[in-house]
Amino acid sequence: MAAEDSLHVSLWETVMPDNSSFDPQIAVTLLHELRELTANEHGAQRVAWTETWRKARNWFESKLRDLPVEYHRDAAGNNWITLKGASDKALILGSHLDSVPNGGWLDGALGVLAGYAVLRHCALDSMPPPITIRLVDWADEEGARFGRSLFGSSAFAGTHSIAADRYRADRDGITLEEALAENGIDINRIGDSAIERANACAYLELHIEQGPILEGLGLPLGAVLGTKGVERHAITFHGQEAHSGSTPMAVRRDALAAASRLALEIRTIAGKHSDAVCTMGSLKTFPGIVTAVVGRAEATLDQRDLDAEVLAQMYREAQEASQRFADEERCTVEWSRIWNIEPVPFHSRLIALCEEAINETTGPSYRLPSGPLHDAAEVARLSIPTTMMFVQSLGGISHNKIEDTRESDLLLAVRAFYALTEKTIAWILSEAS
Ligand SMILES: [Zn+2]
Repeated sequence: MAAEDSLHVSLWETVMPDNSSFDPQIAVTLLHELRELTANEHGAQRVAWTETWRKARNWFESKLRDLPVEYHRDAAGNNWITLKGASDKALILGSHLDSVPNGGWLDGALGVLAGYAVLRHCALDSMPPPITIRLVDWADEEGARFGRSLFGSSAFAGTHSIAADRYRADRDGITLEEALAENGIDINRIGDSAIERANACAYLELHIEQGPILEGLGLPLGAVLGTKGVERHAITFHGQEAHSGSTPMAVRRDALAAASRLALEIRTIAGKHSDAVCTMGSLKTFPGIVTAVVGRAEATLDQRDLDAEVLAQMYREAQEASQRFADEERCTVEWSRIWNIEPVPFHSRLIALCEEAINETTGPSYRLPSGPLHDAAEVARLSIPTTMMFVQSLGGISHNKIEDTRESDLLLAVRAFYALTEKTIAWILSEAS
């Protein structure tokens, strides 16, 4: 650690020995304000690259004007707000202001406004923070209009897919390339967002859980271990179409029978691992009429786990089971991969700090993986130390206008997130020493 850095650490510790002067209320007040501004009777309408999203971002920008911060939009449309510290080393806080159509008031917005509360608190302090603190509002996390999730963070991470995404069209036939241009962004340049990685030492994101685990445990907050990997496949069973009246049971080659057995078996496959999930979300039968044995059944399978070996094992077991059921039903089966992503574990030290922050703010914490993907996964893939904090979702419901979290839990979450920020800054400084 440079002498100048160590001076700042000790001053930082004496100026901010605990988080009692931090007021989390502003984040919740602004969440209500944003809801007023951008929701209708069906829920939040902040779909990326639309007028309402731009309105949300302009509103957010208006909250920055009285703060000593620099802000700009990068080449991929991510908004960056920077509070310069004594060192150029940067801690990044982030989430997203965009929503799905008819979405909830907290998904993404909570993380941005909690980050704002932290940044504002530090900006209004008499001393600059010992390191630089940056807040990012990622562009188009949801992918609601063009089906491309994590748009801005993938550009930042260099995992963007311009060629595949350029001609993606919305319901009205407008392409992503055109929508970006309308928002002042050249799709060919989005990779330039990588410049924002400079000096990044850690990334933190607060988010609603969007699932029922914390509520089931009666806990307001949890530390997130990482985002689960996904194996997503199309599985087709081929049998023999035959008349339902004249074909004896013993000689049928019923593709639906084989698919149905697999639909039940994946519950056993997932059940061997504590956090694993397997879903057969779609099953189509052909010819699909009441008087024919099913000749072809097309299913989809989505498998998720945080452990790459568990995920690989579940994939193998599902393949073996499908083959066994196909044989027993005198059918054949073929698989084709729709999409996959590896698990992204978060940083062990930051997970521990997140747990500490929760312990000190509310008491017991819980470690859980995230089933949904988040921008944090893109950052973590760059090997920038990353973690997330989850706050309980009532009923586990999200992407819905009834999405909600108790206000007392929101306040605890923002306070604990501030504590995590302080701990992470201290850790970054200690790592540098
Ligand atoms: Zn989100």
